[in-house]
Amino acid sequence: MKITIIGGGPAGLFFAILMKKQNPAHAITILERDSPYDTFGWGVVLSARTVALLQENDPETYAEFLRAAESWEHTGTVHKGETIKVRGNRFFGMRRLTLLQMLHQRARNLGVAIRFNANVADVGAIEQLAAQCDLLVGAHGVNSIVRRSYSDFFLRIMDLRQNKYVWLGTRQAFDCLTMIFRANTAGLFIAHAYQFDKATSTFIVECAPETWERAGFARMDESETTAYLGDVFKDDLGGHLLMANQFKWNSFSLLKNKRWYHRNLVLLGDALHTVHFSIGSGTKLALEDAVALARAVAHDSNIATALPAFQKSRKPRVDQFQDAALASLSALETIQSELYLDPIPFAYNLMTRSNRVGYKRLKRQAPEFIAQYEAWRGQLPPAGKIPREFLDLFEKQSFGHLATMMPDGTPQVTSVWVDYDGQYILVNSAQGRQKDRNMETRRIVAIEIPDPENPNRYLSIRGRVVAIVEEGADDHLDKLAQRYLIREKYPPAWKFPGEVRRIYKIAPEHVLAWEPFG
Ligand SMILES: Cc1cc2nc3c(=O)[nH]c(=O)nc-3n(C[C@H](O)[C@H](O)[C@H](O)COP(=O)(O)OP(=O)(O)OC[C@H]3O[C@@H](n4cnc5c(N)ncnc54)[C@H](O)[C@@H]3O)c2cc1C
Repeated sequence: MKITIIGGGPAGLFFAILMKKQNPAHAITILERDSPYDTFGWGVVLSARTVALLQENDPETYAEFLRAAESWEHTGTVHKGETIKVRGNRFFGMRRLTLLQMLHQRARNLGVAIRFNANVADVGAIEQLAAQCDLLVGAHGVNSIVRRSYSDFFLRIMDLRQNKYVWLGTRQAFDCLTMIFRANTAGLFIAHAYQFDKATSTFIVECAPETWERAGFARMDESETTAYLGDVFKDDLGGHLLMANQFKWNSFSLLKNKRWYHRNLVLLGDALHTVHFSIGSGTKLALEDAVALARAVAHDSNIATALPAFQKSRKPRVDQFQDAALASLSALETIQSELYLDPIPFAYNLMTRSNRVGYKRLKRQAPEFIAQYEAWRGQLPPAGKIPREFLDLFEKQSFGHLATMMPDGTPQVTSVWVDYDGQYILVNSAQGRQKDRNMETRRIVAIEIPDPENPNRYLSIRGRVVAIVEEGADDHLDKLAQRYLIREKYPPAWKFPGEVRRIYKIAPEHVLAWEPFG
């Protein structure tokens, strides 16, 4: 089979290696725009599972990888100046250029032809290449010319996200995958740092667009930007500088394609889909794509049927990862509202943000961290009928859906802010509203409280309103405003003239706590 691959990144190179291993008679050419010594960014991080994938599919690449990679078994969170480490996930870091050069060498040894400085620039060139081979693979990254040239066929979906990020490096060593939260007068900055060789760490910084504006990055060049961020993270950098490589601020785009192939042309890796760097899985998906496509072609050498089979088998897995990445990046976009939390609950929320890790898994993998979490919980009011591991719903901006009963027995549902005092669910409303009148006379209620980061996880409670009190209700509303509005006080202008606030104390009688993927 004659195979041409546009792009010599992890996806294209690993696919070439696998196909050559499958059949040395395949004629495989990679066209790479850059030289073998160029790349963007710094290091990449791979999970133990991805490294196992290398082992399974190409033990030679695996052995080389292990020789050059750094590895750690913890993830770390720096919040309020305190570092919290959580054990249980082994990760490997490697300089991106080292990974690419290792794959170049392996591909060449197997007989793959790699043409560097070969830019495929337009649809004419793509048509010509497609006509001259059996399979043309577009593995040329997120700005894929192939995808753009046949956009009506691939049907791209692009979700441009708000946060700005820049991919930097530093000589400071980070002994685990670390997320650092630091703020100055411009706003919050989040660093994602990990060591990828003996002397260097990746240091990606992200911030909200307003923070970016206030900091004045639009007017700063590379050295001014690295100096500014170096100052924000001075307590984390141990006197080391931040360094840039092809410096540029970007906004992450979540990319999907409805169709993955067109005629004998197929997309692979970042050309096909992106995942946010906070779950560090772009290279993982690129390598897995290569394995899946190689398997599909091994199973069926007819390209016309192998490509649909590739999409069918691979897409659900990619969708799953992209969902996790979306949950992770969305949580980071709104993390401001959780900064008030102590380091331990903050780290817990961070660990569970992509919905792929829950309480039970953390308890298995990192019992010492969960012990710290439980100790923190132990200082809170007693959990009463609510399972302890669901008390975080009363720390997040979780809206409860409160069902009360109308005079004719039909249900009425409204969204409410929710609180818990260790015995009663507390709802705050105003005298005279429909739910107030309902609860005043018919005390049976039901309330469902979903996790705002994962609506599949929720508390569903049936109970009885045992008290309605006005004393302290305004102070209680201010307390809720601190969590839900990130304001010291509930805005007086939001109250009606003469509004009388009330707290409704609901004693839970039946509690269902639902966490399907815990
Ligand atoms: C800030 C940041 C941090 C990241 N961190 C991680 C991480 O820690 N772990 C992780 O797994 N992933 C990470 N990623 C994602 C990862 O870099 C990509 O998902 C991965 O490189 C995708 O591999 P690929 O082979 O599909 O594409 P790429 O690596 O982008 O390779 C595409 C290749 O195609 C070449 N090319 C492009 N256009 C043409 C053309 N017209 N003609 C010829 N050649 C062309 C390019 O020069 C490039 O070599 C990160 C990404 C970013 C932006």
